[in-house]
Amino acid sequence: MKIICIGRNYAEHIVELDGNRNRPAEPVFFTKPDTALLRNNDPFYVPSFSNDMHYETELVVRINRVGRSIARRFAHRYYAEVGLGIDFTARDLQRRCIAEGLPWEVCKAFDYSAALSPRFLSLEELGGDVQRLHFMMSLNGERRQEGDTSQMIFSVDEIISHVSRFITLKMGDLIYTGTPAGVGPVVPGDHLTAELEGQTLLDFDIK
Ligand code: MG
Repeated sequence: MKIICIGRNYAEHIVELDGNRNRPAEPVFFTKPDTALLRNNDPFYVPSFSNDMHYETELVVRINRVGRSIARRFAHRYYAEVGLGIDFTARDLQRRCIAEGLPWEVCKAFDYSAALSPRFLSLEELGGDVQRLHFMMSLNGERRQEGDTSQMIFSVDEIISHVSRFITLKMGDLIYTGTPAGVGPVVPGDHLTAELEGQTLLDFDIK
């Protein structure tokens, strides 16, 4: 399986990132290897190579069939469940990568950088519309991020259509659909929780 992450998919997050108000022309994506997964609400250990480790809370879509060059109108057939994830980002290393035009693996694809909720919810149970889902994240009990999938710049179906032009999607692949505004640092001792449509899916310690 592979992990595909979308960047710059919520307007207010793009502004907080670099003050840019331009809507990207097409979805921006990158990948993380399967070794990036952090499962079962296991603790996240802040790695020693970063002094500015950020959370990014994202809706995660699990792909349930193989597809390539998927037309947007058929994309909804390729998923039926959603969960939540944290796209952990070494922001200090990322700034350097961006400034020097380097690839993002060191800041995005490191071990355990993709926290994944142990539980996924069926879209049908949630009302059937992937673009009408509300999620939020708290650190130490304080609300830090709140997102509504209606605010995505590129819809899940547009993302699937775009990514599958370049990379075949397979059963079990995960798409992290981008973070809303409110990203910030985690430090050892923090406790992170996140809920999707009122159900707590992420609940783990930062160590
Ligand atoms: Mg992200």
